[in-house]
Amino acid sequence: MKKVLIANRGEIALRIIRAAKELGIKTVVAHSTADEKSLPVLLADEAICIGPPPSGQSYLNIPNLLSAAIVTGADAIHPGYGFLAENATFAEMCRDHGITFIGPTPENMRALGDKATARKVAREAGVPTVPGTDELTSVEEAKRAAQEIGYPVILKASAGGGGRGMRLVHTEEELERAVQQAQEEARAAFGNPAIYLEKYIEEPKHIEIQVLGDGENVIHLWERDCSIQRRHQKLLEEAPSILPLETRKAIAEAAAHLARHVGYVSAGTLEFLVDKEGNFYFIEMNTRIQVEHPVTEMITGIDLVQAQFRIAMGEKLWLKQEEVEVRGHAIEVRINAEDPEKGFRPSIGKVETLLFPGGPGIRVDSHLYAGYQIPPHYDSLIAKIIAWAPTREEAIKRMERALSETVIEGPGLKTTIPFHQKVLQNAFFRRGAVYTNFVARRMEM
Ligand code: ADP
Repeated sequence: MKKVLIANRGEIALRIIRAAKELGIKTVVAHSTADEKSLPVLLADEAICIGPPPSGQSYLNIPNLLSAAIVTGADAIHPGYGFLAENATFAEMCRDHGITFIGPTPENMRALGDKATARKVAREAGVPTVPGTDELTSVEEAKRAAQEIGYPVILKASAGGGGRGMRLVHTEEELERAVQQAQEEARAAFGNPAIYLEKYIEEPKHIEIQVLGDGENVIHLWERDCSIQRRHQKLLEEAPSILPLETRKAIAEAAAHLARHVGYVSAGTLEFLVDKEGNFYFIEMNTRIQVEHPVTEMITGIDLVQAQFRIAMGEKLWLKQEEVEVRGHAIEVRINAEDPEKGFRPSIGKVETLLFPGGPGIRVDSHLYAGYQIPPHYDSLIAKIIAWAPTREEAIKRMERALSETVIEGPGLKTTIPFHQKVLQNAFFRRGAVYTNFVARRMEM
């Protein structure tokens, strides 16, 4: 592999450039016209425009991306996260054009990409899933299942993602309408009306396991706790969780087993809900690098993006499970250009003053620079600040210190920093009493 085309933008494009540079691989950033003046474009060896601002015409435009790889002589494509990262057809087309797709195989994605299918595969492998159904074929079926497992239940889009396409149902009276609405929403958002039903787990922790596979072997890099969410979207993540070692081990082993079962290649994440009794249930797999991957890197010392490159180049796993060591505690906060005082509504602008934190144990992954105009077309993530320390308590203090140093200012620009400062001070958070309803229940939001 000599040259990689990065089919993404923002902080993850920069993260991939950094990994490639250290491996001696040349980089080409594919960008829309809105990202012409972005940091990835400035720092990559080459840049190529793939279309206008709307992502449908640029970052999701498969013919343009493949042409861009061919004309720039790139022999690999890294998709990052979002956009085409979990698109099996794209991965297949790369393969057909002799371009290495840095990620899982199309077969891996087809087995696990669709949530209802992934549930079946998990059951086949003997991994516990949330009690529920396969894809629903009728309202009657939904009623029967809900009666059997008990309300509340949650309706989910098979093709769903990003916290969208979920609907909570408390009673049978609501169910029929909810099924119709959920199908309509799924069709509109994902082009696929298929939905399924799950028991609604009250106050779970969201625990996810990072895995690395080479098609034969799979190792796990332990877990991340991503329970701090708003409307099913993650805001703050940490590793390791505070669960007992035996629970952590059992979930991690189940995850590695499931990934092995499908011959998984590359980095991936298996998500679970864990109830108060320590029962765990697989909910879905993300077949890509994730936003929150740095917390795992900080506690294991393993560079996950470089690992993706090495696996894509055909290297067999160079680490044994016993060689993966966990050291200390890491926390990541997602800084979004949103106003937490006004319902987290997007609040973008030009960055006039910028000061990122530093000092021991602090890492910043961000594509911002002073003078950068944040384009309105894409998601609102503008920076990730990661704090590492020997213990959770010290990591929290270190993150507070880091956030107090951070300045991201410009006319009309608001960020989620004040929200994170409140989370870090919260007594429940400090004790580790965090569940997926933490923000709604403990932050009065
Ligand atoms: P997405 O793919 O959109 O991220 P997930 O299936 O990963 O959707 O679920 C996202 C979040 O939604 C979970 O972290 C959890 O907070 C909530 N959730 C999903 N399924 C359930 C469930 N059965 N019971 C309770 N909460 C759930």
